[in-house]
Amino acid sequence: LNDREQLAPKSANVTTVSHRVAADERSVRNGHEGGILWFTGLSGAGKSTLAMELERALFINGYQVYVLDGDNIRQGLSADLGFSPEDRVENIRRVGEVASLFAEAGVIAITAFISPYRADREGVRAVHAQHFHEIFINAPLDVCEARDVKGLYSRARRGEIKEFTGISAPYEPPVAADLVIPTHLWPVDRCIAELMTFINQRLSRPRAPQRARLA
Ligand code: ADP
Repeated sequence: LNDREQLAPKSANVTTVSHRVAADERSVRNGHEGGILWFTGLSGAGKSTLAMELERALFINGYQVYVLDGDNIRQGLSADLGFSPEDRVENIRRVGEVASLFAEAGVIAITAFISPYRADREGVRAVHAQHFHEIFINAPLDVCEARDVKGLYSRARRGEIKEFTGISAPYEPPVAADLVIPTHLWPVDRCIAELMTFINQRLSRPRAPQRARLA
């Protein structure tokens, strides 16, 4: 699998059909574009916490928003996948495709996956460049380990979890993230405020002054 290119459909009998609702029409109605906010960072860096807080903050401000979270996706869409390198690549590819469908539907999709490999993230960016925003949820390993929210670091240190990111598997930090959120320096409120500012700058657009007559 070349993860830098969109997979060609297995069947030859697949054609693209056109929607009769344009992306512009959706974003004018919603007051914002659809998009993918791709959170990446170590376990315990704060991806889930900030994704769920941001979802709430955006929702009460009238945005269409939905969080795709690692554990939830692995119970359904990726229930057939494990943690081998090939399965990790496929998992991220699927999440990218689903997030992109949300974005095309006009929704802001927030994805909260460690996604440790730069090539996997760049693969999603390459296929869905118009929607993709990489957001580095950054805290040093020692801070994440001290938080040890789920007790995973101590289990990994004891050798009970193999290939644990940051301990026995690599984490490749973004080289050119669209936004960096240092959770060891900022309280949650500040992190959310910075994320809201980013979204306002990148995804906002004026609502239609009145509902257009649509044919
Ligand atoms: P991840 O999803 O990246 O594995 P979690 O969100 O599960 O991380 O855990 C992050 C932990 O760090 C939580 O216990 C959270 O309360 C704490 N925390 C402290 N400061 C922050 C911050 N500024 N942003 C996010 N989480 C923070």
